[in-house]
Amino acid sequence: MLTTSSRISLADTLHEAVVLPDDPRYDEARSSFNLLVDQRPAAVAFPSDAREVAGAVALAQRLGLRVAPQATAHNQAALGDMDDLLLVNVSRLQAVHVDPAARSVRVGAGVKWDRVGPRLSAHGLAGLHGSSPDVGIAGYSLGGGMGWLARKHGLQTNAVTALELVTAEGELIRVDAEHEPELFWALRGGGGNFGIVTAIEFDVVEVGELYAGAYFFGFERSDEVLHTWNAIRHSFPDELMSWASLLHFPPIPDVPAFARGRSYAVVMAAFLGDAAEGASLLAPLRRLGPERDTFATVPPVVLGDLAMDPLDPVPFQSTSALVDELPSAAIEALLAAAGPESGRGPTVSMLQLRQMGGALARATPGAGARATLPGDISVFALGAVFDEPMREAVHTALADVDAVLQPYRAGYYANFVEEPADASAFFDPATWARLRAVKGAYDPANVFVGNHHIAPA
Ligand SMILES: Cc1cc2nc3c(=O)[nH]c(=O)nc-3n(C[C@H](O)[C@H](O)[C@H](O)COP(=O)(O)OP(=O)(O)OC[C@H]3O[C@@H](n4cnc5c(N)ncnc54)[C@H](O)[C@@H]3O)c2cc1C
Repeated sequence: MLTTSSRISLADTLHEAVVLPDDPRYDEARSSFNLLVDQRPAAVAFPSDAREVAGAVALAQRLGLRVAPQATAHNQAALGDMDDLLLVNVSRLQAVHVDPAARSVRVGAGVKWDRVGPRLSAHGLAGLHGSSPDVGIAGYSLGGGMGWLARKHGLQTNAVTALELVTAEGELIRVDAEHEPELFWALRGGGGNFGIVTAIEFDVVEVGELYAGAYFFGFERSDEVLHTWNAIRHSFPDELMSWASLLHFPPIPDVPAFARGRSYAVVMAAFLGDAAEGASLLAPLRRLGPERDTFATVPPVVLGDLAMDPLDPVPFQSTSALVDELPSAAIEALLAAAGPESGRGPTVSMLQLRQMGGALARATPGAGARATLPGDISVFALGAVFDEPMREAVHTALADVDAVLQPYRAGYYANFVEEPADASAFFDPATWARLRAVKGAYDPANVFVGNHHIAPA
């Protein structure tokens, strides 16, 4: 809790840009994309430039507060208790510079993917964004970043070429392969533990032909859809990224009319190639006879909406795992926990299996701390919670999903872990030790708190 003089000092330094608990703006300032989250930071700062970011960092240290960088609050829950935290929200840092000829982008740390995707697409280019255009580029990139082109081009974090950040000393530094290389390595996977990023630069890819879309099957056909996808995905080249999901759409206007209030087994995919080859690779799924088939040759911008993620905040619980090969028995067990025969209806609103491998399993020279992701499939499950009885039902259902996955677990993916966790489990021991050493060198007093915390060595 802040003392009275600390409060005056904070408010004086950052003026309107700091929101204290008794400010009418406080509830909005502390709100997260997950509406179940109810965290109470000591204060929230909204700096407008790097100088104000440095002011916030210096002041927090004088006041004995720790500093949590934030952009969009999409993964705020993982921070846990915030009593002694100054949340520094960089959402006002909104500069965007796209250089199509150099295939590179520079953005302020508050920029979301929706600001760059359409501009890149107009030039036949794409960034390595994920399922939602509403996610912030900074947090997504610092944690890894697994999107539609990941099997071909790897994680977004390894497309990052430079970062600017405010350090614990309040200095604004530029970090790249030549300048502060150890810090550059650590930031690419180690998240918000080393400073507050103010700008980020990254390479984007030329897309060429892109065949993408979704097959929607009635939910009652989940069994044959998941088994078929799981059997044929081994034949897919790295150019094809596919996700098989069980999805329950809420009956709200934001959902396209055909899906509103309906439940489906869905296979979505993006193929970097022509329609004939894409259709041929996916033929066993199409032969099952989807009730809706949206596959077409599309511009890259379509990938932003392909997954139909909600753009507005949602109250939800989630769980995730990176797993090795899932045998048929595991698919059966997942269906028993969340499928049509589970008797749970829409309790698990989404169960999503993403095929991994390809470039996700190959470290490239100069990669960061999150060079690869272990496992063959990424599983993410969530349940929307609109009242107290649902809270318990969702919790139990997700625990059942977790129990099925446990024997196959190959690791954890930081961006998908949305509760406080021991981040050492996300990395191999050598990478974890190196991350802690970098933290010790750049933030020995442990000022910065990433949502998945790394303590100094
Ligand atoms: C609807 C939805 C869809 C998603 N889809 C995908 C997907 O397809 N692939 C994928 O990989 N992930 C996906 N994610 C996960 C997403 O990548 C993480 O939630 C990510 O942390 C979000 O970053 P943010 O900046 O938007 O969120 P924030 O909550 O603002 O930031 C998360 C963390 O990033 C760090 N951070 C943010 N800004 C800064 C900064 N300026 N300086 C230093 N550190 C900073 C901090 O540690 C912060 O706690 C999805 C999440 C949601 C909610």
